[in-house]
Amino acid sequence: GGEWGHNRRTLPPRHDPGKDFNGVSPPLLQAIAKALKFPVSSLLPEEAFTVIRKSFDARKILKEPQFVYTVDVDVKKLLDMEPRTWDFIARLEPKLGIIEYMPDEKVASDLVNMLNVHKQGSDSELGINDSVSNGSICTQKPRVAVVGSGPSGLFASLVLGELGAEVTLLERGQPVEQRGRDIGALAVRRILRSESNFCFGEGGAGTWSDGKLVTRIGRNTDGVQAVMKTFVHFGAPPNILVDGKPHLGTDKLVPMLRNFRHHLKELGVTIRFNTRVDDLVVEGGQVKGVVISDSRQQLGSPDQTLSFDAVVLAVGHSARDTYSMLLRHSVHMNPKSFAVGLRIEHPQELINNIQYSELATEVHKGRGRIPVADYKIVKSVGEGDAELPEQNRSCYSFCMCPGGQVVLTSTNPSELCINGMSFSRRASKWANSAFVATVSSHDFKPFEYHGSLAGVEFQREFERRAAIMGGGNFVVPAQCVTDFLSNRLSVTSLPPSSYRLGVRPSKLHELFPSHITEALQQSIIMIDEEMPGFVSSEALLHGVETRTSSPVQISRNTSTYESTSLRGLYPIGEGAGYAGGILSASVDGMYCGFALAKQLSLFHGDI
Ligand code: FAD
Repeated sequence: GGEWGHNRRTLPPRHDPGKDFNGVSPPLLQAIAKALKFPVSSLLPEEAFTVIRKSFDARKILKEPQFVYTVDVDVKKLLDMEPRTWDFIARLEPKLGIIEYMPDEKVASDLVNMLNVHKQGSDSELGINDSVSNGSICTQKPRVAVVGSGPSGLFASLVLGELGAEVTLLERGQPVEQRGRDIGALAVRRILRSESNFCFGEGGAGTWSDGKLVTRIGRNTDGVQAVMKTFVHFGAPPNILVDGKPHLGTDKLVPMLRNFRHHLKELGVTIRFNTRVDDLVVEGGQVKGVVISDSRQQLGSPDQTLSFDAVVLAVGHSARDTYSMLLRHSVHMNPKSFAVGLRIEHPQELINNIQYSELATEVHKGRGRIPVADYKIVKSVGEGDAELPEQNRSCYSFCMCPGGQVVLTSTNPSELCINGMSFSRRASKWANSAFVATVSSHDFKPFEYHGSLAGVEFQREFERRAAIMGGGNFVVPAQCVTDFLSNRLSVTSLPPSSYRLGVRPSKLHELFPSHITEALQQSIIMIDEEMPGFVSSEALLHGVETRTSSPVQISRNTSTYESTSLRGLYPIGEGAGYAGGILSASVDGMYCGFALAKQLSLFHGDI
């Protein structure tokens, strides 16, 4: 509404009330009063101000690190103040010319309203087709299969379930309770379950993760806000709505997913775990159903065919068998650029020191008011070489996990790949991050004969090499960053690693083609100039980081989300090449839910 605006205010760390307090503290009120040129801060009504974003800025250009607040001002509440302050409000109005209005965006509020007013009879306000939702005219609900229970599949199921479709959610992996035990067996007994691991199972790839809720699609956009509020609805801590760099940690993600599941069941969504979709039933260019098998049984389990009016494919980018199945049905897919590289790990204390200098001592393993330090770096190398445009690439840090650990994300024992995760407090003594270089179709040339799956084969090649370099048993090849820069094997003992299944000194500089290695080496040197100490004998590189985003994009119609080559198929999320992270995958699933509901005449709103 028109009475709201926001303004950025800063506070030095010593005046910040702590990370769990998101109200307006007296020092913040003073800072607001100063900004508004209002003489007595205690006269300002606290309730007129709401903190909508809080982040920590420790850039070296600042005299002192600061918490940066974005505060909403409710001018109406200010107008309720004593009449003698009215002329102050009149002076204030022009300042609020910088007000940014949140657009009244329909779809996001629809999702949040649906959750809040669920079963309270306000369906018609949302534009839901009464004849379907009350069942009096049309008794048969449209049947939709959602394949995959990652963020995109969960949000598609939620929207479609809320709007009255008969949804069946099919997931090859296990529910989070059993999945947690399977991941434990991997970490302790080296047992990799091919269908229940860091990539497959309830909640998808990001469940045992850092749960960073950052995205490049715009934090304040309609869709992202709706998803964040939905997470809070299912039990995520409300400060994710305010934190500048919100993250959940795996300990908060797991209970949230359980609540999500219970809500879907209450809506009438049928959820089938251990159920892998192996094939599509296609008749006359239209998907009519799916062929499923019990994913716990590798051989000999009877296949079963299920009929559906539409199939939403939310399988993530590790479902290589599903990509091959789509290729057999000639579904249009194209190789997509992504990034490959290594995971670099430092002691967290070293990163705190680099980023915060003397303030580093106040970090206190995630319990202090200063957040555990992170970093985000992008460097371009080979730029400007017009004769070798394919050598121009970006190298960047990705999925940085402060206070986290390196984990195994392989889905097959002969292919080794890693990623990072953390718990909500980010209290481990390690800071790890992927450090990757962009790769595109030029790099996939040796695998061109695999057609649209050339990028998948490119990934697989380096995962296989890494497994061989590690010597088997999920041992990860590793190299001191100083040795990687000098192209030599680490001969002295490696610095300790958070990776639980062991590391082996290896020639990681020989893992990738030389132009990729050189790009990574050059950019590491550039980073050290910006963050002195980044190149250190304590920094350890681990191989290999290949699954940064999808190597494939499945072509779909922009507004209907339907595959351009197969009617009734709705490819969504990261595996389809339309998302890269928990938030963007959730948003994609949510919008697909609304788009499909519209085609099924369950929803008449605007998308
Ligand atoms: P996925 O989450 O991959 O879900 C796909 C689901 O489909 C899986 O559950 C799978 O079992 C199921 N499936 C696949 N094939 C079939 C089939 N044939 N039949 C039935 N079911 C099938 N992102 C962030 O934003 N922040 C982070 O901090 C973060 N950390 C990460 C840490 C790790 C260790 C990993 C692996 C990923 C991390 N990511 C993070 C990435 C994030 O998890 C993904 O971007 C996101 O989960 C993609 O969502 P999705 O729904 O598209 O697919």
